[in-house]
Amino acid sequence: MAVQRTLSIIKPDAVGKNVIGDIIRRFEENGLSVIGTRMTHLSAEQAGRFYAVHKERPFYQDLCDFMSSGPILAMALEGKNAVALNRQLMGATNPKEAEAGTIRADHADSIDANAVHGSDSQENAAIEISFFFADLDLHSRG
Ligand code: ADP
Ligand code: MG
Repeated sequence: MAVQRTLSIIKPDAVGKNVIGDIIRRFEENGLSVIGTRMTHLSAEQAGRFYAVHKERPFYQDLCDFMSSGPILAMALEGKNAVALNRQLMGATNPKEAEAGTIRADHADSIDANAVHGSDSQENAAIEISFFFADLDLHSRG
């Protein structure tokens, strides 16, 4: 499987719980490398642009409010099969359905406050990484 890049975000709930280190440990122990990091606090407008694909969904406003409620940690991850591997480590969107041992099973409280974001395709990963990072901010291990 080819080396890929994907975007991970540690959401405001997980930053607030002080579990950044635990989440990054899971990525590193499973073969993903952190090649860029940025801690920021999105405005509701910025969160809305990031999640524009969901703008017709009923949960869009709540999602933007939540994502702008506190600091987040955006990370570019790199590794074999990074997009799917990150999704696997995250677990299902609704933590009640997340497999035991996944990030969301262990750290998410609800479908809104669900600890992490992860890109869902290589195409979206490229778009989402460029939302937060310039090429010069990414440091490939390959
Ligand atoms: P994922 O984050 O697993 O890729 P989606 O892309 O479908 O999930 O949705 C983006 C985010 O919107 C989710 O992580 C979650 O916080 C929120 N969300 C998704 N579906 C719902 C829902 N039915 N009710 C409330 N919030 C939702
Ligand atoms: Mg998604």
